[in-house]
Amino acid sequence: MALVVMKFGGSSVANRERIQNVAGIICSSAREGNEVVAVVSAQGDTTDELIAKAGEISLKPSKREMDMLLATGEQASAALVAMAVDALGVRSVALTGWQAGFNTNATHGSARIKHLDTERLRAELDRNNVVIVAGFQGVDPAEDITTLGRGGSDTSAVALAAALKAEVCKIYTDVDGVYTADPRKIKKARKLEEISFDEMLEMSQLGAQVLLSRSVELAKKYNVQVEVLSSLTGNPGTIVKEAVNVEGMLIRGVTKDTSFVSISVISVPDRTGIAYKLFSVLGSKGISVDVILQSVERDETRDISFTIAESELERALALLQEHKDSIGFRELTVDKDVAKVSIIGSGMISNAGVASRMFGALSDAGISIRMITTSEIQISVIVDRKEVDRAVEAVHDEFIK
Ligand code: ADP
Ligand code: ASP
Ligand code: MG
Repeated sequence: MALVVMKFGGSSVANRERIQNVAGIICSSAREGNEVVAVVSAQGDTTDELIAKAGEISLKPSKREMDMLLATGEQASAALVAMAVDALGVRSVALTGWQAGFNTNATHGSARIKHLDTERLRAELDRNNVVIVAGFQGVDPAEDITTLGRGGSDTSAVALAAALKAEVCKIYTDVDGVYTADPRKIKKARKLEEISFDEMLEMSQLGAQVLLSRSVELAKKYNVQVEVLSSLTGNPGTIVKEAVNVEGMLIRGVTKDTSFVSISVISVPDRTGIAYKLFSVLGSKGISVDVILQSVERDETRDISFTIAESELERALALLQEHKDSIGFRELTVDKDVAKVSIIGSGMISNAGVASRMFGALSDAGISIRMITTSEIQISVIVDRKEVDRAVEAVHDEFIK
């Protein structure tokens, strides 16, 4: 007998048939003698629909009420899945995030889990119940409902697996596992049997939506073995764990990210401390900057370009304008036509020439590179947004045979 945590994403519970299918997976694991905790997302596009509904009522809805609203999506699917499990003759109980013990901070919309109180969950398992938990939500110290940020049910599942010391956390989704690139976009993408926490973390942070990066951080921290697999095909998935068999691959994956923009600060005086001043203005308000590029000096000034999340653009521009005189720049320009293409793989550490192969593949495809950043196991380039899919394909073709 083992304790298994499962998570089913929105598409896996999108309609009656899918819910019954999920109930079947849960029941067969329970009938094998396992203790089962299943975390569920809201059905299909429910979360987007609720956001749109709020937008019809208010231009700037309060974050507290948004959480109150969005949490209902997961609550509904937890109840429906529990009913479907019951109908198959296995006893189950559905719990909201707060009933399941998710205590978070008060940052509505992107709350962090502070503590997981598993007493109620444990008691339900001891009563031989399968427990269905509404993902993506918790409760703050003021007993207000919070949500964990988009895609947050992955985090709920891994946190539960860590707290309950589960044997495995199975993330059921709409693809067979983690691929070398988004299998919906890149036909030649290959499924990986295994991937390390560090590689998966980079893949998630750099745009592979299949696992939320926060959930991978938690899995690494608590050494939770995660399996990503399909709720529909029954095929073996991808195991995410500490050390892996690299299958002789130099590059494990290629990702794209189109969720950011580039800001250029034009004619910044070439004085010591100016870059510090510029980025501390943004940092002090929690705006994180990603790739940075400085132009060469001309007439004792430089241009500094950097990328930030598109959702932070208005705030960043307002802040920079507010400090225009103290930073001393001439003007700001914004470029939304940018995207990041990255290659990830721990095999890169000991291999020279990977970057030049990547740049060569892009050059052969006629795609120009605007900025570059690298870390030990990752190389990213910024390209025109309209070229991004071609760029991913060219780079994937170069490294993944
Ligand atoms: P869920 O609703 O189950 O949480 P998501 O939509 O969040 O599912 O994540 C699954 C999607 O992630 C897939 O449909 C796929 O298009 C996308 N994806 C992007 N990159 C990858 C990758 N490298 N491997 C697998 N899937 C990926
Ligand atoms: N329903 C939430 C979302 O769409 C959380 C999740 O699916 O993980 O972002
Ligand atoms: Mg997801």
